[in-house]
Amino acid sequence: MIDFRSDTVTQPTEAMRLAMSRAEVGDDVYGDDPTVNNLQDMAAEMFGFDGALFVSSGTQANLLALMSHCERGDEYLCGQQAHNYKFEGGGAAVLGSIQPQPLNNQADGSILLSDIEAAIKPDDVHFARTRLLSLENTIGGKVLNQDYLSQAQSLAFNRGLKIHLDGARVANAAVAQGIAIADITQYFDSVSICLSKGLCAPIGSILLGDERLIGKATRWRKMLGGGMRQAGIIAAAAKLALTEQVDRLADDHYNAKTLALLLAEMSEFAVDVSLVQTNMVFATLAEHIDPKMLTAKLADKGIIISPSRQLRLVTHKDISANDISVFVNTLKQIIR
Ligand SMILES: *Cc1c(COP(=O)(O)O)cnc(C)c1O
Repeated sequence: MIDFRSDTVTQPTEAMRLAMSRAEVGDDVYGDDPTVNNLQDMAAEMFGFDGALFVSSGTQANLLALMSHCERGDEYLCGQQAHNYKFEGGGAAVLGSIQPQPLNNQADGSILLSDIEAAIKPDDVHFARTRLLSLENTIGGKVLNQDYLSQAQSLAFNRGLKIHLDGARVANAAVAQGIAIADITQYFDSVSICLSKGLCAPIGSILLGDERLIGKATRWRKMLGGGMRQAGIIAAAAKLALTEQVDRLADDHYNAKTLALLLAEMSEFAVDVSLVQTNMVFATLAEHIDPKMLTAKLADKGIIISPSRQLRLVTHKDISANDISVFVNTLKQIIR
């Protein structure tokens, strides 16, 4: 099977399976799991933070960050397209009594600094207290540039806001720019990173922050049922995600670019190749092709996509350069 739905479908590597089978473990709720502790120490050091917390998912990492920065009646500023606004079940509002203030995302994924400024509410009983700016990088496969991050950080600092990064795919952003992940995370008070997407771990995300934030997040994690016991079993694979899988993302980016260029040559697809900066290709399917028909016919040939006129095709470890050719040739057969 060639599965383009997401980089979350990646299988753990053989090295991960071996490391999991041999991991030294303990009860992590007591702080006794050496493999979890080692992962957290390693991540904090690599990315330049006081502390790191290993959590079950990216959604949980973002929720813990929002709940640790904000109190009941506070608000966070984020993009309309932000995962932690649109795709996390409204968790901050439901579980944290925190109001989101979504703002337009520009075509490049950024939020205008002037829009951020204008959305910060005065200290007045009518308003929620604006506490936090939350950005996402990559966002829809696009990379936010480093100057923008620096300016956003200054704005947040000058206006007394904290700044969070949903860095689910921050490793892709770093590799695309040829810089270290820490060069990006330096601009933020907290960062969430998914280890189970392009980095191929089976489970888990990391939340980074200062000691106070990680302390609060640890308490919320337990309350939300996320305190895990012999979690070293999965932390062993998560460590390899950070040490062995980051550089490999360049292959995914190359394959995505190749795919975008090939689709752009076909009249049935509209693709803006300039927006293909990491491992995601967005393509609009021509009116005369039924997305459900296409999805079903591809499935017969062992190729999985999500049925939509606005296709999102994601490259990852389990899609090779040859799989890209197979996919494009199969598309041509089906369509013509
Ligand atoms: C996948 C994703 C998350 C959430 O991760 P889960 O592990 O699926 O909960 C958060 N933010 C972004 C940008 C993501 O792509």
